[in-house]
Amino acid sequence: MAKKIKRECTLCGSPDSGENMVVEIAPGLNMCENCIRIIDNARDTEFANRSKENEKKNDIGKVPTPMEINAFLDQYVIGQEEAKKYLSVAVYNHYKRIRQNESAKDDDVDIEKSNIILVGPTGTGKTLLAKSIARLLKVPFTIVDATVLTEAGYVGEDIESLLTRLLQSCDYDVKAAERGIVFIDEIDKIARKSDNPSITRDVSGEGVQQGLLKLLEGSTVLVPPNGGRKHPEQKLIAVDTKNILFICGGAFDGIERKIASRLNTRVVGYGHDELARKKQRENLMRYVTPQDLKSYGLIPEIIGRLPILTSLEPLDKAALRRILTEPKNAIIRQYKRLFEMDGKELEFTDDALSLIVDKAVEYKLGARGLRSIVETIMIDAMFEAPASKEKKYTVDADYVRRQLVKAHYEE
Ligand code: ADP
Repeated sequence: MAKKIKRECTLCGSPDSGENMVVEIAPGLNMCENCIRIIDNARDTEFANRSKENEKKNDIGKVPTPMEINAFLDQYVIGQEEAKKYLSVAVYNHYKRIRQNESAKDDDVDIEKSNIILVGPTGTGKTLLAKSIARLLKVPFTIVDATVLTEAGYVGEDIESLLTRLLQSCDYDVKAAERGIVFIDEIDKIARKSDNPSITRDVSGEGVQQGLLKLLEGSTVLVPPNGGRKHPEQKLIAVDTKNILFICGGAFDGIERKIASRLNTRVVGYGHDELARKKQRENLMRYVTPQDLKSYGLIPEIIGRLPILTSLEPLDKAALRRILTEPKNAIIRQYKRLFEMDGKELEFTDDALSLIVDKAVEYKLGARGLRSIVETIMIDAMFEAPASKEKKYTVDADYVRRQLVKAHYEE
């Protein structure tokens, strides 16, 4: 009879014995009890270390005061003082709230969630504000567009998929995501289209707002890990939105008319029509109230869950000029740094900067346009400079004009 070959541990070579059994893990892979124990221990230690690391990572540490938050925002965002102040206070309170939830003590005062809605023309810094806040707080942050959302059952993305991106931004660390910040852009696009919701089914409007409610108020929702639409076989991730801060932004085009009509009726009623006219001439947006959002088509429940309402002002030339040079990562600073890396000095004359601002206003491009204008102006210099012996480059108004003509921006 052929001798039965004793099984050996593939890792350490120990033979199978009464004290140290060798088992077949997979075809061609045998392991003895000792090795299995060593692997088990190593895995437990690694697991414990990782959880400690995660805890450390999730510790919010010292939360800056509202004034500190404001000062931080000042480095990145020009103007918009009121919005900055509101945001600073809201974020500060939000973190107090997280602390309250985490301290095991029973507290009879329950601090409610302070989601925020920013109303203001496009390109005035709504996204930039939210991004800067996330940078300061070092929490997971994501920007999502409300326009892609639809009610369950229709084409588009499920509302819960808003949180997929947040999860992705922190490698699916659910605990971290649960105290992150979600910026929902274009919230105005899901406003109810007509005052009478029963006429036609409004796929992207009221239903989506109803769906959003659940996320905003704080509840446990099931999120598809890869976004898109949920399907039955998919494994879903449970995320509690109680401590997620939602910042919504929207241009609310035409809301000035609603504000004006509300102000006029009231103010004229008191006989101050001069004041009413003056207010109209100024930026009406700053008088926006929850009532105006309702007339615009947001349902009262959504408005109620976005208790902090503040507006952003249109950017005038002076603000645009500051945006070019002042913020920490201002466009002009970025170009100077690019040249510096090649050992070159880059200067812009005051006239050149003023002209760039004038053009951004003339082309109605606002702050967003500044970058594309500067890019257009700089393309030739950036192409040629690295190979040239020239050490100093000065961009003056003439150069700006010539480059814009060359790029067919100007006749
Ligand atoms: P929106 O209000 O449409 O969300 P963004 O915040 O995306 O506008 O602004 C677009 C770009 O314009 C920003 O990335 C930034 O470069 C610039 N910008 C807009 N507003 C400001 C501002 N107040 N201060 C500094 N830069 C700004």
